[in-house]
Amino acid sequence: MTAVNPHYLKLQGSYLFSTIAKKVAAYKEAHPQTQVISLGIGDVSQPLVPAVVEALQQAGREMGQAETFRGYGPEQGYEFLRKTVLQGDYLSRGLALSADEIFISDGAKSDVANFQELFSSSARVALQDPVYPVYLDTNVMAGRTDVYKNGRYGGIIYLPCTEENNFLPQLPREHADIIYLCSPNNPTGAALTKTELKKWVDYALEHHSIILYDSAYEAYITQAGVPHSIYEVPGAEKVAVEFRSFSKTAGFTGTRCAYTVVPKGVMLTTPDDGKVSLHSLWLRRQTTKFNGVPYIVQRAAEAVYSPQGRAQTRAVIGMYQQNAAVILSALKEAGLTAFGGQNAPYIWLKTPQGVDSWSFFDKLLVEAQVVGTPGVGFGACGEGYFRLTAFNTPQLTAQAARRVADLTF
Ligand code: PLP
Repeated sequence: MTAVNPHYLKLQGSYLFSTIAKKVAAYKEAHPQTQVISLGIGDVSQPLVPAVVEALQQAGREMGQAETFRGYGPEQGYEFLRKTVLQGDYLSRGLALSADEIFISDGAKSDVANFQELFSSSARVALQDPVYPVYLDTNVMAGRTDVYKNGRYGGIIYLPCTEENNFLPQLPREHADIIYLCSPNNPTGAALTKTELKKWVDYALEHHSIILYDSAYEAYITQAGVPHSIYEVPGAEKVAVEFRSFSKTAGFTGTRCAYTVVPKGVMLTTPDDGKVSLHSLWLRRQTTKFNGVPYIVQRAAEAVYSPQGRAQTRAVIGMYQQNAAVILSALKEAGLTAFGGQNAPYIWLKTPQGVDSWSFFDKLLVEAQVVGTPGVGFGACGEGYFRLTAFNTPQLTAQAARRVADLTF
């Protein structure tokens, strides 16, 4: 029989969302009359905005005409979208990059998952705890970790993000080759300021490390001093890759479009002490393993940057931000301590003394019929915390918030 990739056997079952689904289903079956409201989902509730729908329809019509039909497109994305992203997200902010440093993809999840294959299997990985699980699991699959013991994989440098450090990762004492930073953060909602981010860029410059900067929630930043791109920090163009997504910016979770910035100045060493550019390797990887994002989807993403597209998507984001404010104020009313929600659609609340993440989940479900996500599901440092999201509709969010505010803890 063919042998399995042994590293897959180290993976821990992803019980988090299936356990939540089972508990909710059991509760609903026992209480068919009650309305359970989910503030647990990381998916959007609002439809695509009219400017995006119009672009999809127009591009769909083009695909139905022989003169404008398109087959395979460039694997890295159409020039029209790369140039629009460059102008809209970088040149307009005074950040000098070129269009061919922007790679259009079908999601930040796949890009951030695939990127690690460009690095040596012995590269040391540092990541935040709690964390978006994709960074960790893809490195486990690639064999960069030892076995899982006492809640941790051997070989990984965990960066605890706790109340004491405002949920911001601190520089490790040891050397890290690959550093995953997620800011604004899922699940904690914390965002690195430019000063904090500079420490990481300086560390990476000094240690010749690579920063994989996941900024899927950039559109939710409201605070001055929080950078909208890692390239606002001088030197980042030599050490950092930036991942961005249209999923939470423009409701593309089901439409699928994202982009990754790989500056040409980021270098890796070769076994003979030479240098190779990360950009050339990612281009090689994408042209070999990926066939591009549909033309109609790229036209839809382009429409996000039109004046109407911008205004319409900003209005939706504003609505989710308002949901976050409603949730935060309800938690305060209930006497709970909560973080996040200011630069991210996530609220990270501290469970009351002596109540663990799962007990809090049960209490919220049974007493308020509200569903959230136990913090411990995102890592050991998430124990004693609980994540609520601002992505539900304003009506259901307000209803859920009222129920939580009325609870006694
Ligand atoms: N990165 C983070 C931190 C996320 O929370 C998510 C989605 O929840 C993604 C990436 C995935 O984004 P996409 O829909 O573009 O694959």
